[in-house]
Amino acid sequence: MCCDLKRRFLLLYATQKGQAKAIAEEIWQQAGAHGLEADMHCISEMDKYNLETEKDPVVIVISTTGTGDPPDTARKFVKKIRDTTLPPDHFAHLQYGLLGLGDSEYTFFCNGGKTVDRRLQELGAQHFYDTGLADDCVGLELVVDPWIDGLWLALEEAFLLQKEKEGMSSDAVSSSLSAAPYVGHELNLSSEVQNLKLEDERVRSADVLTQKLVDIHLVASARDYCEPSLVHSVPPVSQSALNIPALPPEYIEVQFQDAHGENPHLSSLISEGTTFEVPVTKAVQLTREDAIKTALLLELDIADTVFDYQPGDAFCVICPNNVSEVEELLHILGLSEKGEHFVCVKVKQGTKKKGAAHPQHIPERSTLKFILTWCLEIRAIPKKAFLRALVECTSDAGEKRRLQELCSRQGASDYTRFIRDSNVCLLDLLHAFPSCKPSLNLLIEHLPKLQARSYSASSSNLHQPGKLCFVFNIVEFPACPARPVSRKGVCTGWLAKLVAPLLHPNKNTLDTKGESSSTEKISIFARPNNTFHLPADPSVPFMMVGPGTGISPFIGFLQHRQKLREDHTDWEFGETWLFFGCRHQDRDYLFKQVYYLACFIENGTLTHLEVCFSRDSSTAEVAPPKYVQDVIRLYAKEVARVLLKERGYFYVCGDKKHMADGVSDAVADILSMEMEVDRLEAMKILAMLREAKRYLQDVWS
Ligand code: FAD
Repeated sequence: MCCDLKRRFLLLYATQKGQAKAIAEEIWQQAGAHGLEADMHCISEMDKYNLETEKDPVVIVISTTGTGDPPDTARKFVKKIRDTTLPPDHFAHLQYGLLGLGDSEYTFFCNGGKTVDRRLQELGAQHFYDTGLADDCVGLELVVDPWIDGLWLALEEAFLLQKEKEGMSSDAVSSSLSAAPYVGHELNLSSEVQNLKLEDERVRSADVLTQKLVDIHLVASARDYCEPSLVHSVPPVSQSALNIPALPPEYIEVQFQDAHGENPHLSSLISEGTTFEVPVTKAVQLTREDAIKTALLLELDIADTVFDYQPGDAFCVICPNNVSEVEELLHILGLSEKGEHFVCVKVKQGTKKKGAAHPQHIPERSTLKFILTWCLEIRAIPKKAFLRALVECTSDAGEKRRLQELCSRQGASDYTRFIRDSNVCLLDLLHAFPSCKPSLNLLIEHLPKLQARSYSASSSNLHQPGKLCFVFNIVEFPACPARPVSRKGVCTGWLAKLVAPLLHPNKNTLDTKGESSSTEKISIFARPNNTFHLPADPSVPFMMVGPGTGISPFIGFLQHRQKLREDHTDWEFGETWLFFGCRHQDRDYLFKQVYYLACFIENGTLTHLEVCFSRDSSTAEVAPPKYVQDVIRLYAKEVARVLLKERGYFYVCGDKKHMADGVSDAVADILSMEMEVDRLEAMKILAMLREAKRYLQDVWS
């Protein structure tokens, strides 16, 4: 009976950095083993599917961007389903399961998925499977793996119900249903570790390999008494039979060609818009040498381009991987001699990977070095599927077993601890497991696209025509047992090295005297932010909260406002507040010098500047506030007045969820106190302010 059932489902993914796509591909691949056909599309390919007429079950995997929005690829889709003229039964025919991806480091956890889920429900669509919300902060796999495991049975049931609806004999349906393996799919798939316990032997994928205990004795005995580490396991993991994922089929073929020709232009790697190659005209270190983090300000010359931006916009920097890491990788791959050779990347003929396609981020023809430098995120934290594939390229039995453990269900917490939380990358693994010798095609199959990094503009095009500034902290990854050498962030490390000759060490001021003679150029493209902008009406007051590099967009706001004040002396301007915080007054107080903050105060652009220092000791009787949220509480009346009475704006920018949450907690408390309402009511008011785009956040990790 089962073989008569229609077994297609529509699989949509909305991805920002490729994770949702990779998970959708995993589902697609597993679907085959379950005798199902996944019709997979990017959610933006709206000409390839039609939810209005879709009768088969729909599976949606959707990520969330930092600001809680659905990914760019889902924008059109979200706009379409948000159409308020749609009737409440618009999707009454639709049954779907949704897997949201997010990061609880950010305030609006999984908001992309939640938004779509909520709207589909409002339009009458039915869940055939409970929504899963996976948290990148603790490891997506904690929810993703059990969610996918449970999906197959839920789909089976959805197909049966579908047939039933289509008029199949109810007897046949119920007998099929009872023949199907049962799993209670009342899954509460939040990001709770309890999901790991979802171990139903009957829903194990056909491809899952059970590793026999016999292997264990090869490696376990000497290690059982050690502390666990990236390369060593201890009981129970070291003594367990392992459930490891199915080996992903290889699908890429690499052919080396003559060393002639030119590499593609960087712009061809970007699908998001026009790229601009612009000179870096200034670099200033904003922090003292003894500050814990080093913040740099870079100025770009965009005068000869049509690149346009507003204060509050972010833009993307195309960055390469570290040269010596690329060389090291070539060496380990045994391809040092071939770095300058052109390679042709093709899909392997007869591959078992369903729908295998040429990876869009790999040029048809470029040198091997170009691919490793500009196309692949070689620092990416290896996914379990990659570890599984690496097992096959590892000759040492002990190393093989450990890699199996790390990608197994039993080794999930080891994976989280020694790979994910330790920010281990492929090179770290290849050092730790020296008998692992992967092929180039495996790297192309498993390493994600090297992403351009986003930065907030820290200047105003009105105030500094033809210039674009931004500020960043150089990201540092200290050495640890799994990473013998310390590293810098891919982009910030590269930028720091690039501009080293331009830097003015120990100076906290911009050298405004002469243009630098730098010829260094970087490639950028726009990433407009539709909401994090100055109020359209200049008479409206606003408050800005930007500790650390979070101050960056507010410098642009203030420059813009200063120029408007100069140009329009007859206009009315509302008050402007800036809450800034850092560790030490004399080490990392960004933009402290005359040129900036004090100057804005002097000329009246900034009406209130409130600062705090979290690590400076104080001899005052009453300790001064440490964090921006503490300072905000001191100005409760003003916050309430600006936000409620004067319909002002409140902006928060910074790099930590804890700051943004702390600030919104403080504002909610203030609203509750000043309006004499309970906390719940205050939260509702804050939500309304967010909805009205008068409480705006731009946070990054
Ligand atoms: P990567 O090599 O990508 O490493 C960063 C990753 O490592 C992050 O996942 C982080 O969580 C993790 N990490 C960082 N430090 C450590 C550590 N010590 N140990 C372990 N893990 C660590 N950044 C700015 O500085 N200024 C801005 O104005 C700015 N604006 C942004 C605007 C938007 C819209 C977005 C999305 C991001 C913004 N960012 C900004 C962040 C920026 O895009 C980069 O993520 C950041 O500069 C790091 O890039 P990287 O390549 O140097 O680091």
